[in-house]
Order: sequence, then structure tokens, then C-alpha cells
Amino acid sequence: MRRHNFSAGPCILPGEVLQQASEAVINFDNGLSLLEISHRSKPFVDVMENARALALELLGLEGKGYKALFLHGGASTQFLMVALNLLEKRAGYLNTGTWSDKAIKEAKIFDDVYEVASSKEAKFNYIPKGYDIPEDYDYFHCTSNNTIFGTQMKKFPNSPIPMVCDMSSDIFSRQLDFSKFDLIYAGAQKNMGPAGATLVVVKEDILGKVSRKIPSMMDYQIHISKSSMFNTPPVFPVYVSMLTLQWLKNLGGIKAIEKENDKKAQLIYSEIDLNPLFKGYSAKTDRSSMNATFTLANEDLKETFETMIKEAGINGLNGHRSVGGYRASMYNALSLESVGVLVDVMSELERKA
Ligand SMILES: *Cc1c(COP(=O)(O)O)cnc(C)c1O
Repeated sequence: MRRHNFSAGPCILPGEVLQQASEAVINFDNGLSLLEISHRSKPFVDVMENARALALELLGLEGKGYKALFLHGGASTQFLMVALNLLEKRAGYLNTGTWSDKAIKEAKIFDDVYEVASSKEAKFNYIPKGYDIPEDYDYFHCTSNNTIFGTQMKKFPNSPIPMVCDMSSDIFSRQLDFSKFDLIYAGAQKNMGPAGATLVVVKEDILGKVSRKIPSMMDYQIHISKSSMFNTPPVFPVYVSMLTLQWLKNLGGIKAIEKENDKKAQLIYSEIDLNPLFKGYSAKTDRSSMNATFTLANEDLKETFETMIKEAGINGLNGHRSVGGYRASMYNALSLESVGVLVDVMSELERKA
């Protein structure tokens, strides 16, 4: 039986996707494993093209001047790739957590970075609002969902300059006007597939404007011109991502999954608010529907709670080491039923205590 997997990343994937993926490892094309065929062979080129097309289709960005790429190096490589490709003089960053902080640090290697706003002083428990984005900067960068602190941007500014967004932990989870963004990136391992591939969706007309020389592997235009096959792509992560995107499309796309995600978030947050034994970490208005962070009001109950969690078959609930407490990550593939199991344990603890 599968466990109730609340892991923050790598994380839960749909059971049927894991089944199909494991079959492809043994026999993908006429007795050949997916892992032993050329990435230039027709069956794999079809996988790559299908994955790229599905990503654009699900985001509603087909025919709008965007290209989808599956690259190596995780979202962390995008922190520097974004700057290398787009930063000429100065960029504005919204600092909403550990990942934004790291993105800022990398961009500063290349040029001037200005923090338009930050919630660092409050240990990133809210999303700053009402900041200005200077018109003469090269781009504005934000992080849509702060995986570690459990906050999520509910509204995005109307940026007068290209808007870049790290959507690693909430891409494909909710409906947004994705055409507001000029570059979106997301490590696969939070809501799409295994670790090892990063989805980049970029509007082509923002590229080619910086004066520096860009190393080939870091150059979006080169990856676009080679249809995301400049070098050997991460074939297995791309294949599993394609399967997950197909699974999402069959369910009814982002619109359908958003409804489920809202129900899951409502269920967990109402328990956190009503149960006096638990305290939510983040500001209510900015709560993430993907990662719910909370602590026990009374640390004496820690052992009892954790034993109960284990007995209920729940995995991956520990908070990030920088926040402590608990974090329930509720990505697309996690069922409402799993959240129900967790909520039952929380209310059972209240009855016992
Ligand atoms: C996990 C995560 C990252 C880092 O991803 P890697 O693929 O490990 O580099 C970056 N940004 C956000 C929002 C994340 O959740």
C-alpha cells in the first residue's frame, strides 16, 4: 500500500505515472529500455516534443511566443542562468524566502541587484505588498510559492519590465494568467516529476539583449535553437514529467486540479486554526496551498504526535530545518483523502491531550 506522502520534494507522484515509468525502464520501444535508447531516436524525440507541448498547453501559452525547455541543473542553475541571459545593468528581486535569497546571491555575481521588498526581518512569514518596480531595470524576479516557509503569492504585480518567476513548488497547481510572466522556471521534483530536469518557459522576444558572451550550456537561445536537445537531456525525468503532464491533462488540467488543491488547503488550515494544539506559521492571507507550515503549541506532545503520524502511514511531515515544526506538502498528486488522514490524527491528538 502507498503511504500518505507529504514530502516537500522530491515528493509524491501519481501511482499510475510510477507504474508506466517503471514499465518503460524495462521495455519502452520494442524490447529496449527508455534508458538505453538514443536521445536522438524518434521515440525519445517524440517524448521531448510532447512534454514541451503539454507544458505550454496546460499553461495556456501555446502560440503566444513562448518556448518550453527541459534543462539540467535544477532550479538552482536557473538562479544564475536568468542573470546571465537577462541582466545587463540592474534587476529587481522580491525577497520572500530562502530560494529568493539564493537567487539574489547568484545574480549579484554578475551585476547590480536591488531588493524591491523583503520579508526577511519577519523570518519570511508573509509576502510583502505595495512595492514599486522601477521601469528602467532589466527584469523583476519573484518566487510564486515559498516551499520552506509556506507562503504563496496570491497576486502578481503588473510589472512594467519582464517578469521572471521561480514556480518550482506550485507550477501547474492553480490557474494564473501565465502570459503575465516572461520567464518561468521550475525544478521538476516538486510538482511534475523526478529530480534532474528543470522546466523553463520563456518568451523568446526577451532574449538576446545582453552584451556579455554566454557559455553555450547557459544560453537559452542555444537550447531553443536545438529544441532542448543541445546536449543529452535528462531522459528519464523528462519522460516522467511528460507522463505527469499527460495525467494532469486527462484529469481536466490546472482548472480541475486547482479545485482539489483548494479543498486540501481548506481542510488542513481549518484544522490548524480550530485545534488549539497547533499554530500556523505564515500570515493567513499569504498561506500556501502547497506547503502548510505549523508548529505544536505544546512541545511535550511531540513524541505522541509523531508516533501517531507514523502509525497512520504518514511520511515527510517534518518542517525544514530552518523553520522547525511541521510542513504538510500537498502537491497535485496528493489526495484529499491523505490530508483527511493527517487532519484526523491532529484532532485525535486534541481528544487525547
Ligand atoms: C526546491 C526549490 C528550489 C531548488 O531546486 P533545485 O532543483 O534543488 O535546485 C528553488 N526554488 C524553489 C521555490 C524550490 O522549492
